[in-house]
Amino acid sequence: MTVKEALEKKLNGKSLSEAENGEVYQALLAFTKEKLAEAPRIAGDRKLYYVSAEFLIGKLLSNNLINLGLFDQVRAALEEAGKSLSEIEDCEPEPSLGNGGLGRLAACYLDSAATLDLPADGVGLLYHFGLFRQSFWEHKQYEKPDAWLSPDCWAEKTDVSFTVPFPGGAVKSVMYDLAVSGYEGGTNRLHLFDLETVDESLVKDGINFDKKDIARNLTLFLYPDDSDDAGRLLRVYQQYFMVSNAAQLMIKELSAKGYALRDLHKHAVVQINDTHPSMIIPELIRLMQKDGIHMDEAVSIVSQTCAYTNHTILAEALEKWPLHYLEQAVPDLVPIIKELDARVRRKFPDQEELHIIDKHNLVHMANMDIHYGFSVNGVAALHTDILKEAELKAFAQAYPEKFNNKTNGVTFRRWLMHCNPELAEFVTEKIGDGWKHNADELEKLLEFKDDPAALEALLTIKARKKAQLCGYMKERAGVELDPESIFDIQVKRLHEYKRQQMNALYIIWKYKQIKAGHKPARKLTLLFGAKAAPAYIIAKDIIHLILCLSDLIAKDPEVSPWLEVRMVENYNVTWAEKLIPACDVSEQISLASKEASGTGNMKFMLNGAVTLGTEDGANVEIHELVGDENICIFGKSSEEVIELYKEGEGRYSPAAFYPEDPEIEELLDFIISPTMMRLGDPENLGRLYKDMSRKDWFMALLDVKEYIQAKEALLASYEDRQAWAKKMLVNIAKAGFFSSDRAIAQYDQDVWHLR
Ligand SMILES: *Cc1c(COP(=O)(O)O)cnc(C)c1O
Repeated sequence: MTVKEALEKKLNGKSLSEAENGEVYQALLAFTKEKLAEAPRIAGDRKLYYVSAEFLIGKLLSNNLINLGLFDQVRAALEEAGKSLSEIEDCEPEPSLGNGGLGRLAACYLDSAATLDLPADGVGLLYHFGLFRQSFWEHKQYEKPDAWLSPDCWAEKTDVSFTVPFPGGAVKSVMYDLAVSGYEGGTNRLHLFDLETVDESLVKDGINFDKKDIARNLTLFLYPDDSDDAGRLLRVYQQYFMVSNAAQLMIKELSAKGYALRDLHKHAVVQINDTHPSMIIPELIRLMQKDGIHMDEAVSIVSQTCAYTNHTILAEALEKWPLHYLEQAVPDLVPIIKELDARVRRKFPDQEELHIIDKHNLVHMANMDIHYGFSVNGVAALHTDILKEAELKAFAQAYPEKFNNKTNGVTFRRWLMHCNPELAEFVTEKIGDGWKHNADELEKLLEFKDDPAALEALLTIKARKKAQLCGYMKERAGVELDPESIFDIQVKRLHEYKRQQMNALYIIWKYKQIKAGHKPARKLTLLFGAKAAPAYIIAKDIIHLILCLSDLIAKDPEVSPWLEVRMVENYNVTWAEKLIPACDVSEQISLASKEASGTGNMKFMLNGAVTLGTEDGANVEIHELVGDENICIFGKSSEEVIELYKEGEGRYSPAAFYPEDPEIEELLDFIISPTMMRLGDPENLGRLYKDMSRKDWFMALLDVKEYIQAKEALLASYEDRQAWAKKMLVNIAKAGFFSSDRAIAQYDQDVWHLR
């Protein structure tokens, strides 16, 4: 049967050309699910469980078609019927089951594990509402629940169900499965657990709901707002629900293979993705004890089964639960956690920083992972160094053999083949298609570094992607961008350490320059995309500032021919796939030492953008790979920044650093100038001004002048088109290292040993 025939059968005989896009999408979904079910299930004697509170999987149709080797056939069949696959894809809702980089990493890793034929399933939660849908009104962010589930979506209900004990009574779970396809390979599964008794009608006013009704709300929302106690406590319940299901699934599968529980570590590995799944350690011990295994042996088995990935050194992001939360939510785990802590105390009596329960009765989840896991990894070389030498130094000295680095990666199926088929085709034309299975082969492109025709072709592809983005922006946002301008893009979660506010100061500087008659060689288009956590006030104020500047500039006929600032609404994976291929300048400007790795930086590089960044996270490795000429690095180093923080509270005070720096003062003052106060909300602008001029905890003012200089120099270098194309080519050629296939191969070799 041809693809066309198969699809028309699903359409009950209706011809493809007559069917609506929505109907064709449903037919394609059913067709692709069947093909996934036919693909071989990856199996093995030893299996990985990648447990994560987030899987930011994005839309799955094209990704699955690519991996199944059906993409070209399907596209051709649709084209013949006058249909466009990308328009049909617009019908697919994006499951936003993650906040940002951490969740997206989990999704890339599942793709690569399946591609490398490793038995590796994901385990997480089936949130009925993913990350909120963002909208802007009067230059401010508003949040709405984002329902993505429908009876015929990719997640399929299974008959697997477990009982999870809570003090108020046990609840029952239901396991949903999504097939995870590997590129030209077999399939693994993403298991998402739902609560049998969940009740969507609890969601009434925006994204608020009754946080106390555990038996009805547990899987309603991704990470409820944790700004109040009820929200934080709900997270503990969610986390326990997730890990109890994961542990019970592992044990069920182990016994189905005919192995005894005490052999768990020989046949299963758990990767704990950040500390959200940490309670799997005491939960596995609890289940083993229930089965008659003694504490000593249970601890030993579990410690050989669990490995931990650290994603951040931001103190506020390292989870510490008050013991009384745990007593309330997971009383059965408390004696086990106390015993684990007691053992640590016996071993390290004088080293309080190693203890699990501190003197304020806070339970340090990461500490538990490090003592009772066999591997601890950071996510970029610099990040792992900082963990070993500063943040987790005492642990690294106690367990040097546990620490290792696994620099993050991204899947090239989604972040090149799917989002930029034009560039993928160019690469294949030049160097063959070996790169699709071995990303290191991209280096062969370096041969074309001085080939004018190849460089010209790269510029043409970039122009094409920019034109496509212009079309999409017009349709979605009613905004007409200038495709001849430079596209400078900063898309990522809104956080002070990522320093969108520093980019905003650049905008103010540039605006003033243009007002003063200093016009640039070419128009600059600055694009932003970012969601702020609903309770993160300063982050929302930064969005307000950017939206006000955007409006101010758009309405100013003196400035708008030279500068345009736009922030896309509801930045998500779908937006990323449109924006990244069209980017000229990739903004990676976090305060050095604060961004553990970043993965956006890798996606941009792969698509031929030039990075403007600090020596932070994986930017350091990008810099090493492409060399000084092909990246623009600025700002204070991580050592200098760490020193500034060490020198104590108040040492880095912007008021002390810039008492009378008129240039910086002028930029800050603009935030509360009459022009801005008329346009925006004085409360938001005033608060942000105060914060930036008096606190500036993430040191935007420390680097802003160097940033402006570096950016101006980089933008000027854009005018030598041939030289710029060469930078693009070197970036693409050197991006192979950032394939998640490489990262997963390293995890398997050093940590998992699945084959
Ligand atoms: C890749 C990605 C991220 C992570 O971006 P960073 O710049 O590394 O923070 C966040 N959100 C989405 C939708 C992504 O695709």
